[in-house]
Amino acid sequence: MQTKWVICPKETIDKEAICQAGEIIRSGGLVAFPTETVYGLGGDALSPDSSRKIYAAKGRPSDNPLIVHICRVEDMKKIAVDIPRQAYVLAEHFWPGPLTMILKKAEIVPKETTGGLDTVAVRLPDHEVAQAFIEQAGGFVAAPSANVSGRPSPTLAKYVYEDMNGKIEMLLDGGQVGIGVESTIIDLTEDIPVILRPGHVTQEMLQQVLGEVCLDPTMLDVTNTEAPKAPGMKYRHYAPQGELTIVTGDPAAVSDKIKQLLLEDSKNGRKTGVIVSRQDEHLYDADSVKVTGDREDMAAVARSLFRILREFDEEQIECMYVQAFPQDGIGQAVMNRMLKAAGHKIIEAKE
Ligand code: AMP
Ligand code: MG
Repeated sequence: MQTKWVICPKETIDKEAICQAGEIIRSGGLVAFPTETVYGLGGDALSPDSSRKIYAAKGRPSDNPLIVHICRVEDMKKIAVDIPRQAYVLAEHFWPGPLTMILKKAEIVPKETTGGLDTVAVRLPDHEVAQAFIEQAGGFVAAPSANVSGRPSPTLAKYVYEDMNGKIEMLLDGGQVGIGVESTIIDLTEDIPVILRPGHVTQEMLQQVLGEVCLDPTMLDVTNTEAPKAPGMKYRHYAPQGELTIVTGDPAAVSDKIKQLLLEDSKNGRKTGVIVSRQDEHLYDADSVKVTGDREDMAAVARSLFRILREFDEEQIECMYVQAFPQDGIGQAVMNRMLKAAGHKIIEAKE
């Protein structure tokens, strides 16, 4: 199969391309498309066959459910039942946007889409191309991130093409995505809503609207070995081909430790990389130094993280280091993804 790569910026939507993309989905094919978080790999959410094709294209375990993307709030009622009032409150505040809600599924949603669960994940993305495409596709597009399972989620079309060329019919290229980490997932089927995956919509933002909101205990604790409730969160994820290590502690001790590790690696003939803020760029001598932006600008870190991990792969970097980020606001999502990318390898620098 030849994958058709079509440039489709949100400022000047190519209506013909969107119609074609919608037609592909309605006839059972797959289309990758931009959202505000990362690129999605879309198929018809109401077709068991299309969902099977998504799992096959990604090489994703079929117990890892897909998020159903909609383009109108009221469409939530067609795929979910017993919807709590909180879902409408959240939709009012955060949709369209980077928030996924877990609800009880309606009969119409096949188990293939939900990885065998009785619940369904629903999101209304804040991206003109995504919305126009979902509408043309029939309103319900199942879409995980458009990467091969385990690799960093794609934030640029070229990375989708790298992973999906020949496996999907079409790629809608909307340029670089805005947020860069996947949506926040909140489970509304429990008495107290639970965050299953942190994202751009933070716990504080959700608490302001809903009151009490808890975090899945397995989410950030490195030592916790319980199975997380979002099945996908248990897999090694977002991982570069080399070895990423997170270093925590006092900033001076962290930079000393990273310098020492870089020196050892290069003595051993290994290619090294570091991820740093603009302020720390001058500190390190590595084969590849990747700058995320200003130290305080966590949104820039979120936006660049997956791209940097892919660039390290392109440069065949073997050992990578990064200082731990503060876990407030979007920092929580960034650290969650980094811990997974590092296979939970985190060391403390002592003074
Ligand atoms: P991705 O689409 O690649 O961003 O991954 C979707 C994430 O949503 C995975 O971590 C899934 O396990 C999670 N997810 C999707 N549906 C459900 C559900 N019904 N219950 C819990 N987690 C879900
Ligand atoms: Mg993913």
